[in-house]
Amino acid sequence: MIRLFDLKKQYKLFDKKINKEICSILSSGNYILGKNVSKLERDTQQYLNSNYTISCNSGTDALVLSLRALNVGINDEVITSPFTYFATAEAISLVGAKPIFADINPDTFNINPQNIKKCISKKTKAIISVNLFGQACELEEINTIAKENKLYHIEDCAQSFGATYMSKQTGTYGDMGCFSFFPTKNIGCFGDGGLISVKSKKHYDKLKKLRTHGGTKRNQHDLIGYNSRLDEIQAAILCIKLKFLNKFLDQRRNIAKVYQEIINNEKIKLPFCNENARHTYNQFTLRVKNRNKLIKHLEKYHIPYGIYYSKPIYKYKAYSKDNYKKLPMAEKVSKECISIPIYPELPISDIKKICAILNKYE
Ligand SMILES: *Cc1c(COP(=O)(O)O)cnc(C)c1O
Repeated sequence: MIRLFDLKKQYKLFDKKINKEICSILSSGNYILGKNVSKLERDTQQYLNSNYTISCNSGTDALVLSLRALNVGINDEVITSPFTYFATAEAISLVGAKPIFADINPDTFNINPQNIKKCISKKTKAIISVNLFGQACELEEINTIAKENKLYHIEDCAQSFGATYMSKQTGTYGDMGCFSFFPTKNIGCFGDGGLISVKSKKHYDKLKKLRTHGGTKRNQHDLIGYNSRLDEIQAAILCIKLKFLNKFLDQRRNIAKVYQEIINNEKIKLPFCNENARHTYNQFTLRVKNRNKLIKHLEKYHIPYGIYYSKPIYKYKAYSKDNYKKLPMAEKVSKECISIPIYPELPISDIKKICAILNKYE
């Protein structure tokens, strides 16, 4: 049976190493924010070539902490994509600000910089770009818009660890880059985890406080903060996996290459790759006019699929009172998108079968 993802397979690759690390942490008596967390922060800072990195509890927390560090709050507006995971907009609402949605480019699924400009108002304080499915947005252009309008730029890199734009890592363009280590992301732990890549020392120092109840020392509470610490076990696992990340990303890219070469069906639109962006294919997302028909076809042959995302964020009940107006591209793409299996350990026989079945669709 083909699977949409199979997390057990990656664990098997290093189970002995991971088990040994976990046992040594369990016997050490030091479980939170210890030497493994420090090592992960050093290693990711080097990998991303970023000024500072700070770990936290999840990708969602990375966004919330970043907004708080930039003083984004009540009466502020933050421009973001309507076509992303709910957490992107949720983080904006959690700090008391209002998400303003700028329509996407239907080819890349990413926010369209031209539409960002149209959404800027006196209340706009920041832009959260989302490098969706593992492909960078037009990050230089978004940085320029942010600079010209004195706005902060936060990158939601939950799906783009290791992706680059003009050879520079995602997460190092904006004031902050927010990563998630949720198990199905490009680099996942065995629980929840997150990371923020930070440009300025000032913001880094504030984030360190926000992560642990507003202070970094015992009896120091300078701010109302959070409990958003990463634990030693997850950090140790991530340190082991980080060494293999480039290999995993190459495997994802190779699978995508096979899909791009072999899938040949005029009814199915393959993902478009921006030549300036090195796509990491956290998802391989197709577009098709009659999605229900394709779903029936895939189900008939037991090919799993995912719908990311079935509606623009403003259509969820949580935002139903806010009277957002419809955005044509987000509406269209959310009806047409369908993702097929892509993960480093996906067997070539499965890849070929998926291609053959997609080619048979009429
Ligand atoms: C997964 C994801 C998040 C949230 O990350 P968590 O670690 O699950 O909190 C935020 N934004 C996007 C685009 C995501 O894919």
